[in-house]
Amino acid sequence: MRKISFKLKITLWYTILMAVLVGGLFVFLLSTTRYYTVSSIQDELREVVTQSAGAIEFDDNGFELDDDFEAYDNGIYVSVWDENGEKLFGTMPSNLKQIPDYQDDTLQQAVSEQVIWYFYDLYLKRNETEGLWIRGIASQAQVSSAYHNAVSIMLIVFPVFILLAGILGYFLTSHALQPVRKISRTAQKIADENDLSIRIPDKAQNPAKRDEFGIMTHVFNQMLERLEQAFENEKQFSADASHELRTPVTVIISEAECAIEKAESLNEAKESLMVILHQGQKMAGLITQLLMLSRAETGKSVLDIEEVNLSELAEMVAEELQATASNKNITIETEVEEGIYVLADEALMMRLWINLVSNAIQYGREGGKVKVGLSKSRNEICGYVKDNGIGISKEHQSRIWERFYQVDPARSAKESGSMGLGLSMVKWIVESHGGSISLESQEGKGSVFIFILPLNKNIGNEKF
Ligand code: ADP
Repeated sequence: MRKISFKLKITLWYTILMAVLVGGLFVFLLSTTRYYTVSSIQDELREVVTQSAGAIEFDDNGFELDDDFEAYDNGIYVSVWDENGEKLFGTMPSNLKQIPDYQDDTLQQAVSEQVIWYFYDLYLKRNETEGLWIRGIASQAQVSSAYHNAVSIMLIVFPVFILLAGILGYFLTSHALQPVRKISRTAQKIADENDLSIRIPDKAQNPAKRDEFGIMTHVFNQMLERLEQAFENEKQFSADASHELRTPVTVIISEAECAIEKAESLNEAKESLMVILHQGQKMAGLITQLLMLSRAETGKSVLDIEEVNLSELAEMVAEELQATASNKNITIETEVEEGIYVLADEALMMRLWINLVSNAIQYGREGGKVKVGLSKSRNEICGYVKDNGIGISKEHQSRIWERFYQVDPARSAKESGSMGLGLSMVKWIVESHGGSISLESQEGKGSVFIFILPLNKNIGNEKF
């Protein structure tokens, strides 16, 4: 069986609610009206009988009635009876079948031919042994017929009203759910056409004035934007990675062919083997980095958190890279506050320092300086690596964090065979430890990379 649509469900709920509310209200109105009408009849009955009793005067011959005495007043029958049950004066309704006994000052009721009758009697004492009964009788017939008319009208009006409410509710719900249909149509189109550049039409001029569906549309579009970007990055990443891997593979193949075909001595063959070894190592390095990147990408890279002496790591890296720096006559200076501990992944922290310091050397000036610094404030740690090398122009500053991005690929490759992954890894390391990194640089003058790490923050698994 086909499932009921959400639109129909809302309409049904709404209609049922309306039916219950309107029905309940009607029943309440009818019953309260009936209650008050009946009690007003009873009050009037009492009043008329009491008034009539006041219009009776006893004399020596019997009794006398004032002009005020009315035998029939506004639907109320009044009669006077003696002790023996003989009617002395007044009128009685003709269709009464059941008549209750007299009871002084008591309201009684009896049903005759489906009509309820009310009786009210008063006993007037003439002397110790004699007296008169004044009886008032009123029927509920008027109330009942009005009540029945109202119920019949209700039985006709109620279904019509509920039907109209249902139809109106259906149209209102359809109108209100239009944005949802727009969203699902767009999602369907994206799936059918495999096109992430499609967006849901968003007419909102002023973002602050968006309603709930407007916000949903906006969020959905933002999500698509990010998805498209991530997808593009992914494509770019695969293209770049295969490109980077193809270069050393081509070199390896051509060197091996060259060695096989042309090498005449073992020494010549060894030269080719050296090239092959170097390219093989480069590939191994690249594959390690790519693996790390993709594990970080899928969130599988779990940080091995421990207490790390960041000051010691900084000094160690500076010392180890001094030899490489010396090839360019660069001196590495440190300004490291001692004993700064942080909860972090030690291998990643080491990689952070190595990538930043080796970049500073690689892009540093011949005979220049590299400064490595680390300090601690109340709740954060600040580290920096500064050089007075080639610097980075404004246009490139925001892009150097992207994977495989290099300002001058020819220069980078020539100097160290690097592949533009170092800074993206640095950024990921800092962010996965809950920190942030920034760059200040001037082309031709040098750069300083500054990172901040929180001291007591939960460390998550950020995506690379
Ligand atoms: P690479 O492997 O090319 O060094 P990175 O991701 O480490 O890749 O750096 C990306 C690019 O940023 C580099 O190619 C280089 O152009 C630029 N860069 C990085 N560090 C520095 C620096 N200290 N001075 C000048 N340019 C830098």
